[in-house]
Amino acid sequence: MVLMNWELIGHEWAVNLLSRHIASDQVRHAYLITGPDGVGKRTLAMRFAQAVNCTDSKNAGDFCGQCRACQFIQRKQFPDLHLVEAEDVGGILKVEQIRELQHQLALSPYEGKKRVALLLRFHEANDNAANALLKTLEEPAPKVIMLLTAQSKETLLPTIPSRCEILQLRDVSRDQIEEALVERGEGHEKAALLARLAAGRPGWAFRYASNPELLDERTEHLEDLINLLKTDRLERFKHVERLTRDWERERKRGGEHPRLRALGALEHWVSLWRDAMMLAYDATAEQRNIDRTQDIQVLVRALPPEQISEILGKFEQSKRDLQKNANVRLVMETLMLDLPRISEG
Ligand SMILES: [Zn+2]
Repeated sequence: MVLMNWELIGHEWAVNLLSRHIASDQVRHAYLITGPDGVGKRTLAMRFAQAVNCTDSKNAGDFCGQCRACQFIQRKQFPDLHLVEAEDVGGILKVEQIRELQHQLALSPYEGKKRVALLLRFHEANDNAANALLKTLEEPAPKVIMLLTAQSKETLLPTIPSRCEILQLRDVSRDQIEEALVERGEGHEKAALLARLAAGRPGWAFRYASNPELLDERTEHLEDLINLLKTDRLERFKHVERLTRDWERERKRGGEHPRLRALGALEHWVSLWRDAMMLAYDATAEQRNIDRTQDIQVLVRALPPEQISEILGKFEQSKRDLQKNANVRLVMETLMLDLPRISEG
């Protein structure tokens, strides 16, 4: 039995399970891979597609990474790999996309052993799209494998997960992420910080490691938050107006959707409030924002633990609202109303 880990960080059990399915010719027709963003769902699905179609692997259930199938799948140019996802992260996966996929899946594989349909972030599918996919899940074509990814099975119509084998990916340990970052050439200090901030998600850590501007953006967000806490409501609303206007303008120049920008800020803010809450209740708990201990101490000194916990809850709620397409400016303004004013700093 092959047990190299498909070059994945963590999730050894999932790799073992899938490679065993291939080796014993028991590949299911549909899998649902769930877990938080950046934990490794898409990477696992891509490796599985490679292992299924590899023509040159020494061991059944493994892949070589070198053959035509392996390389073309890696580049997403394999004719029997069908990638379906909403146009934007946080967008909507539409029924037309499922119909088009179904036409393609009706044909036998062009060159691969199996046609692999990879449906990413399927929680973004609307009901029409999800219902359309049901038919394909109920009457699978013989040489087709459906791979769905989603944040959790609860975010889908229940009829979808009930027709799939579910692989629920858990957080990857901090040590594993830190080690992988060092192996890729990060300095120890940065690797330690990123591994903590990643909160179990190697994909997140690698994204931040290879895009230094993301850490700069985090610094900006955290400093914004600390400054906003010292200002009054009027100042805060002005700040939101400026921020959302900038995001809109950058969007017009080809930048990210304002919703994603807001989610980025919220992620950093939630992480800081989470550290403050941990510190308020348990001084020995592991902190994530180890480079911002002073800010965290300011929050803990200025606010009672219950209030920190309540604020954290509101920030997390705003994140969920944004993921469900709420109006960006409205969400940010509501958040500003809920922020206490602190004078210490
Ligand atoms: Zn190969």
